[in-house]
Amino acid sequence: MTAKSAAAAARATVYGYPRQGPNRELKKAIEGYWKGRVTADALRATAAELRRTNWRQLAGAGIHEVPTGDFSYYDHVLDTTVMVGALPARHRGAVETDALDGYFAMARGTQDVAPLEMTKWFDTNYHYLVPELGPDTVFTADSAKQVAELKEALALGLAARPVLVGPVTYLLLAKPAPGVAADFDPLTLLDRLLPVYAEVLADLRAAGAQWVQLDEPALVQDRTPAELNAATRTYRDLGALTDRPKLLVASYFDRLGDALPVLAKAPVEGLALDFTEAAAANLDALAAVGGLPGKRLVAGVVNGRNIWVNDLSASLATLGTLLGLADRIDVAASCSLLHVPLDAAPERDIEPQILRWLAFARQKTGEIVALAKGLAQGTDAITGELAANRADLASRAGSPITHDPAVRARAAAVTEADARRSQPYAERAAAQRAHLGLPLLPTTTIGSFPQTGELRTARADLRARRIDTAGYEERVKAEIQEVISFQEKTGLDVLVHGEAERNDMVQYFAEQLTGYLATQHGWVQSYGTRYVRPPILAGDISRPEPMTVRWTTYAQSLTARPVKGMLTGPVTMLAWSFVRDDQPLGDTARQVALALRDEVDDLERAGSSVVQVDEPALRETLPLRAADRPAYLAWATEAFRLSTSGVRPDTQIHTHMCYAEFGDIVQAIDDLDADVISLEAARSHMQVARELAAHGYPREAGPGVYDIHSPRVPSAEEAADLLRTGLKAVPAERLWVNPDCGLKTRGWPETRAALENLVAATRTVRAEL
Ligand code: GLN
Ligand code: ZN
Repeated sequence: MTAKSAAAAARATVYGYPRQGPNRELKKAIEGYWKGRVTADALRATAAELRRTNWRQLAGAGIHEVPTGDFSYYDHVLDTTVMVGALPARHRGAVETDALDGYFAMARGTQDVAPLEMTKWFDTNYHYLVPELGPDTVFTADSAKQVAELKEALALGLAARPVLVGPVTYLLLAKPAPGVAADFDPLTLLDRLLPVYAEVLADLRAAGAQWVQLDEPALVQDRTPAELNAATRTYRDLGALTDRPKLLVASYFDRLGDALPVLAKAPVEGLALDFTEAAAANLDALAAVGGLPGKRLVAGVVNGRNIWVNDLSASLATLGTLLGLADRIDVAASCSLLHVPLDAAPERDIEPQILRWLAFARQKTGEIVALAKGLAQGTDAITGELAANRADLASRAGSPITHDPAVRARAAAVTEADARRSQPYAERAAAQRAHLGLPLLPTTTIGSFPQTGELRTARADLRARRIDTAGYEERVKAEIQEVISFQEKTGLDVLVHGEAERNDMVQYFAEQLTGYLATQHGWVQSYGTRYVRPPILAGDISRPEPMTVRWTTYAQSLTARPVKGMLTGPVTMLAWSFVRDDQPLGDTARQVALALRDEVDDLERAGSSVVQVDEPALRETLPLRAADRPAYLAWATEAFRLSTSGVRPDTQIHTHMCYAEFGDIVQAIDDLDADVISLEAARSHMQVARELAAHGYPREAGPGVYDIHSPRVPSAEEAADLLRTGLKAVPAERLWVNPDCGLKTRGWPETRAALENLVAATRTVRAEL
């Protein structure tokens, strides 16, 4: 291989693209189908049209090989479960009766059958459905979806590369099926799974695939020798197949570490590596193994997870160092563009100058194409792009938005004591008990109540100026009244105002903080048909005025019971936003924490005795590699404490987390020094309560007894059983009763029924104490 020939062959590609369409057509079609308003055929037609539009756009922009099979009605890991035939026993009947309805049943559950568990896809905000496997799992190949989508792209005359979740990652993401021993290791199924992948590869080859991409992001995590050995065997066996396309094994989200030599030596034709800052170690590691002689290297130099314009010169320099390390070098985003919004161009509310700092999927595609061209033809071929890029980077670096002297001075003056409550937990707990006078097993909810159609209409009316602010606020107040009176009637102990005024728990605050940008169309898939519009942390953060005090005070004026103030914590404000890449994350977190601290203090001053600061994202932002975690947890927990430590000892600070396994961050949860924590636990049968107990967690906790991700209403008996299980781990004096998470995605009828059952269950169990 010569550097020159490798450069000359450079092409642009991507691993995946936003699925939803420019106006979230996919969401509308799927939800319409669920409601019976859209037929299965119409849904399929919409999906096919969206795929075609994406491919044409990518190819038109200069992407050489378009990805296929990355599209999904709900989740690509669930699609993989279908592809390998690993359907949970409880869903088999439904899938056999109707594949599409059965698919959605696995994703969302039905009144009778629980869905698959859902969890975060690595450290992103995308959720996948966890495969459930056991010693009796039988895999069977079903390549229909992959083959069909490949054929669609080929029919357009495009070069296409199917993208599959790799077998090692698939097994590493799986968990033991219900009823299977908890220590069952899904990786023991590898020998059964590989023949199924072999069959799919053969089918794809027969359908015309030249290359197939196998995604193995699980290999960027710390892996045991046995797991690395599984990767070795996998790619030795798949590589040895004769009836197969060329294989590109893709990694992203971090450095490959010990897995790099394994994959470099494997008999596959290509490797895709992340070369963004977080994974920069891949560069030296690749050189250290002697590169990839004879292979194709796909270089992820454009960050697929942030929304900032790429530094094209820096990327070209990186690409330059890769020349000579592989036979052919292609340019890509570091990961699927699924994690960024589709297109920045339609944004109208962002100043044109600032809009130029941003790159969404379409703009990133342009950057990738420009870089490939620069690599193949020399920088002279892209002088215009380079000059514009330099100007955009300079405009951002020199902007007063990114440098507010007052914010910087305050953050620099923070001391260790600022991030500590004035009294230790035990003393505070006594003061709070006296102050609040709550019963044993106090009941509460996590904050939001159903976001009704009327509320969304009211917000749309306000935006379109069909109603004025006063009119909008009347509607919000009416909603708060209803939420308060429902909670009083139902007998909940610590009330919430219901978050009717909030479009989203991060965006709501972002809109009020200086330094944040909001988008109008920047939707990103969170799970299934749930899309979020992450705001953009673009500059230094400050709070011009109180953000929530009015609504909380209004709600409190309606009841004698305590109403929780409700805020989103600093770590989550970062995790569910697009963050700055021009300063350490800890610096940004501290700025946000100081703004929130002022809000917490203002709530207390206005009469709140309980304030909840949600940190559902604490676990998901945990770095993938253990070596990187202590530094993250240090700034993350400090930021939380900084935001909550300004209050009196008898003011009770709650926090809330969801979606994840907490076993490895119990110490960090402890370090938050919150008085009460509510956690998601219903689907895992209170696992988290046992984890807290095993750690000796000394504070109050509310492991959820109502799974709010499913429309299913748990019975009072079921909730009572969960509570009794919870009591085995957390003593009654410290156990709270609450749902898993906020209720905003649920409807009123199910919410009413579930909360009534929750209170009834609490009464039953209290009587047993
Ligand atoms: N307070 C928020 C709510 O109830 C918390 C949501 C979350 O944890 N994701 O909606
Ligand atoms: Zn939650």
